[in-house]
Amino acid sequence: MSDSYDFIVVGAGSAGAALANRLTASGQHQVLLLEAGAASHPYSRLPASFGLLIGNPAANWCYTSEPEAGTANRRIPVPRGKLLGGSSAINGLVYVRGQPLDYDIWAQQGNRGWSYDDVLPIFKRLEHYEAEISDDRATGGPLRVSEVPDQNPLYDAWFAAAREQGWPINPDYNGRDQYGVVKTQATISRGKRMSTAECYLKPARKRRNLHIVTRAQVEQIVLDGKKCTGVRYRKGAQTTVASASCEVICCAGGIASPQLLELSGIGDPAVLQQHGITVAHDLPGVGDNFRDHINARINFRVRAPGVSYNERVRGLRRYWQGMKYLATGGGFLSLPSAPVLGFLKTRPDMETPDIQMHLVPYSIEDPARRKLHDHPGMTMAAYQLRPESIGSVHIQSADPNDQPAIRFNFLDDPIDRRTIIDGFRMIRQFAHSKALDHLRGEEISPGADVQSDDEIISWIAANAVTAFHPIGSCRMGPAGRNTVVDDRLRVHGLSGLRVADASIMPTMVSGNTNAASIMIGEKASDMILEDLANA
Ligand SMILES: Cc1cc2nc3c(=O)[nH]c(=O)nc-3n(C[C@H](O)[C@H](O)[C@H](O)COP(=O)(O)OP(=O)(O)OC[C@H]3O[C@@H](n4cnc5c(N)ncnc54)[C@H](O)[C@@H]3O)c2cc1C
Repeated sequence: MSDSYDFIVVGAGSAGAALANRLTASGQHQVLLLEAGAASHPYSRLPASFGLLIGNPAANWCYTSEPEAGTANRRIPVPRGKLLGGSSAINGLVYVRGQPLDYDIWAQQGNRGWSYDDVLPIFKRLEHYEAEISDDRATGGPLRVSEVPDQNPLYDAWFAAAREQGWPINPDYNGRDQYGVVKTQATISRGKRMSTAECYLKPARKRRNLHIVTRAQVEQIVLDGKKCTGVRYRKGAQTTVASASCEVICCAGGIASPQLLELSGIGDPAVLQQHGITVAHDLPGVGDNFRDHINARINFRVRAPGVSYNERVRGLRRYWQGMKYLATGGGFLSLPSAPVLGFLKTRPDMETPDIQMHLVPYSIEDPARRKLHDHPGMTMAAYQLRPESIGSVHIQSADPNDQPAIRFNFLDDPIDRRTIIDGFRMIRQFAHSKALDHLRGEEISPGADVQSDDEIISWIAANAVTAFHPIGSCRMGPAGRNTVVDDRLRVHGLSGLRVADASIMPTMVSGNTNAASIMIGEKASDMILEDLANA
């Protein structure tokens, strides 16, 4: 079988769904959107699906990392969305653009068009922010974003404790200044998850020029010399070659994009030949420059009754939460992964925040099974915003069904170790604010016997997990600097092929990565249509 389109988009995640919507808006271009996962999952519109789908292969690739010395040789679970909407359909819903400096650094690295002033109009056009608007925020875009409406004495105490510490309360951390303690803005509207499937694909699905095929896994990008002509994908037992007269855009995400390039013979010859893959295009940067956030969590008991969700969902009360959600769209099932946050500085002389702190109004005994403790608890967590440690994602066989080897190399860089230890100490100091005294019980984990820097870093190495933000594995930048795409997201040295997803980020943005990934999909559509018009 063979099919022919103008554009083929691989992966219907945060970036791919936004891109497919914009490419088909004029009605002039035939677009094939291929998604390896299903069209949806019964839980996916629930915000709480973050916990319910985190280990569920029906909507999740459920990767694991390679054992590494820096994280006590553990295999860390690496969830990634596998359905329309991609990771935006299973994520923690926290909405963060990052700091202006993040994008200015991308521009300083030689990426024209990616400074904060360049990307701000795109962030504005993609959002519909359901709260007070400043010049930096907007309404009317596809992605609905709202401030978390949940109320809880824990959140009030969080803000009171911040005042006690002398930290600012920031009314809009998605404006120009991120610094301060904040109520979370979330991709939630009226209690429903706002994935890119909901916000970008649902309104576009009836377009006659948008052809969405689900459960279609792309196994190879097809090249004719140095020109990309299409893709080969498998759906069930059937293999199809689809051709693209204009371009193929790979939006498979921070893990699967470098994997697909390597499976197609694009990458470091040493890696490809090791697995018997013929080198079609020598591009050593593929799979390198990989980064993620590592998240250190501290669990406390909560001594005030009826405050922690461990209590509020116990036994028959879970049915009450279900009814509350159905009647009001509120309660436990409507929560993002953290309803209040802090963007803070581990040293007062820092120009901008270097850690993100989270409060979760419950505590978890077994993260893998999302099993809550039997006693009332809360979790405070922190990650370093811009990690320096660099890992890699590379294929470990020529079989597209084998997951690639994911090496985070977490905590390799001394700055990362220093910052996470300082962030960990800041959580403890904050948790012992007077304003939290009436709520906070004893520290459950790690506990009072973990005190010195060595004890803290060893505990983090043995317990911390990814914050689910893999980026950088198809890095954007000028050719010849271990980069994969140029600043128009074209794969260096090839025509007809771009990568547009979290994998192109040259460095980590300061925060959760969904908003930036959607922005990348949006910006890719502008560049593709401009280049077509100028061709
Ligand atoms: C559990 C979890 C919690 C998170 N929490 C937050 C949060 O609270 N806030 C936030 O901002 N970010 C969060 N993130 C991160 C954020 O969701 C991602 O950074 C973002 O969605 C990445 O977008 P993407 O387009 O690069 O990739 P994805 O959205 O992952 O999309 C890639 C798509 O490509 C498909 N695909 C892959 N390979 C193939 C193939 N060979 N053929 C066809 N299709 C393929 C995948 O199935 C997927 O649908 C979280 C992520 C996870 C997994």
